[in-house]
Amino acid sequence: MMRRLQWRLPSGLIRTRRLLAVAGLLGAGSFGLVTAQSTDLRITRFLEAAGLCHAGEACVMTEDKRKALEATIRTTEQWAPVPPKVQPDLGSASPSDAIILFDGRNLDAWVSTNDRGPARWRIKDGLLTVVKAVDNIETRQHFKNYQLHLEWRIPSGITGEGQGRGNSGLFLASTGPDDAGYEIQILDSWNNPTYVNGQAASLYKQAAPLVNASRPPGQWQSYDVVWTAPIFAADGALRSPAYVTLLHNGILVQNHTPLAGETVFMGKPFYVPYERAAVKLQAHRDPSAPISFRNIWIRELNGSP
Ligand code: MG
Repeated sequence: MMRRLQWRLPSGLIRTRRLLAVAGLLGAGSFGLVTAQSTDLRITRFLEAAGLCHAGEACVMTEDKRKALEATIRTTEQWAPVPPKVQPDLGSASPSDAIILFDGRNLDAWVSTNDRGPARWRIKDGLLTVVKAVDNIETRQHFKNYQLHLEWRIPSGITGEGQGRGNSGLFLASTGPDDAGYEIQILDSWNNPTYVNGQAASLYKQAAPLVNASRPPGQWQSYDVVWTAPIFAADGALRSPAYVTLLHNGILVQNHTPLAGETVFMGKPFYVPYERAAVKLQAHRDPSAPISFRNIWIRELNGSP
């Protein structure tokens, strides 16, 4: 319920009026007011919270009260630690604190998933193309929580249908050989009906994307992912599930979506405890033409639990 509070600002207290204006409690147009009467609940609560006014009493601002008000406001300001400066992506490559996973030159950051040997996908003209006859590839380095950027392109002449049309996948944590882990589907979903929890940008067999943000075959598409790894107790029990936030071509398609466990093709998902894991790309064995990747980078989120 709104309580009526009378408060007055002596004309000399310019700084107080500025303070209230900065706090959004007094419009800039009100600067000329010498006295005011307000039923605005926000002003009432603000001054009462600062201990400068009491319900039902007139509130007269003094210099001491202004100083007390400033001190109170300061208690809600956090000044440290200062976030490190990062040079953002200016349309070319990656933020300055990113770990580059693929920049068009080589696959040094990757290994073959099953034999741990060199990754044997094809690099040509700065693009990485899947070689379906060989294994999935995964990062040499292992991660926990991170932000990841990846660009992919379905060939313009793609053929096939459903799951057999440009299928690949981004595994957010590779927890074993082959397709073990947590897959975000990569697929041509421009005009290619399939089960919705298996279309592009789905968390495969667990969550369809909020919208279909696909571009047509032949155009580059981007995934920007925030991965919050699952947390396990010492005995392996699940403490907190994994979460995925995903922007597909800049559009939010997974919003902190919880996972029920690792990706499974059939049956109920389940968790397998792990600490850190590689990021994996899928060499899907369907007969359609292989897709390509470029500009892959990752930023570890060390402050996360
Ligand atoms: Mg796939």
